[in-house]
Amino acid sequence: MTAPPPAIRFAGVEQAFRTDAGTIRALGGVDMAIGRHEFVAVLGPSGCGKSTLLRLAAGLLRPTAGTVEVFGRQVTEPRDDIGIVFQKPTLLPWATAEDNVVFPARHKAGRAGPGDRERARSLLARVGLAGFEKRLPAELSGGMQQRVGIARALFMDPDILLMDEPFSALDALTREEMGFELLRIWEAQPKTVLFITHSIGEAVLLADRVVVLSDRPGRVVEDLTIGLPRPRGIDTSNQKALHDHVGYLRTLLLKRAA
Ligand code: ADP
Ligand code: MG
Repeated sequence: MTAPPPAIRFAGVEQAFRTDAGTIRALGGVDMAIGRHEFVAVLGPSGCGKSTLLRLAAGLLRPTAGTVEVFGRQVTEPRDDIGIVFQKPTLLPWATAEDNVVFPARHKAGRAGPGDRERARSLLARVGLAGFEKRLPAELSGGMQQRVGIARALFMDPDILLMDEPFSALDALTREEMGFELLRIWEAQPKTVLFITHSIGEAVLLADRVVVLSDRPGRVVEDLTIGLPRPRGIDTSNQKALHDHVGYLRTLLLKRAA
């Protein structure tokens, strides 16, 4: 028997964009595999191709060179078993928070099924938005809109969750709470997570592995296994091993930026 393929695999992935100002090489040969139910965080300087990597995994973009596979099959279009949280909330402005969460199911099935609304409300409660179900996006703060986007991505209980700096619009405390809530959801309903973040501490606290990309064109320059025990919580934040990892990654990123 051969081993099952990883959840996501990037092999020799290059991405170039043609613009009026010339060609921009965003990714310069990325090789990386993410195992089933693994939680991988990606760190890297601004503009190094992190969002591009996520859009490739989502099937929203085709690589210039190399291959992107999900569960062993080349990605050619968006899939129902992948949930995406974009860097900026992309909510329907005329739909309530609850309707925004239900939208993907309605889109797929043609209408919301029984139990969908209850499920949407319970997900909104999990992301701290109980009581805000009937609000329109314009009536919510940026951080709250982002949390609606997270509930929406979780709604279909996807096998794979792609998250692009999902917590960057949140205040520090809410951000930490959301991270732990995400871990609880991930532990209760195992899924593969590709999590892009600017925060070294957040990457180490949440992930099984932290992958560091180089400056543009991005390629993998570090792939660090984080062996901190699970379940992780507030106590994890105080562990020496966490601080050692954070210190190591900070030095690496600073040296590369110098
Ligand atoms: P990051 O998320 O790491 O900040 P991105 O993946 O968004 O970086 O972008 C990487 C590089 O590719 C940037 O220089 C960006 O301007 C460029 N880029 C991304 N998408 C496009 C596009 N559709 N057209 C032209 N350039 C793009
Ligand atoms: Mg980005």
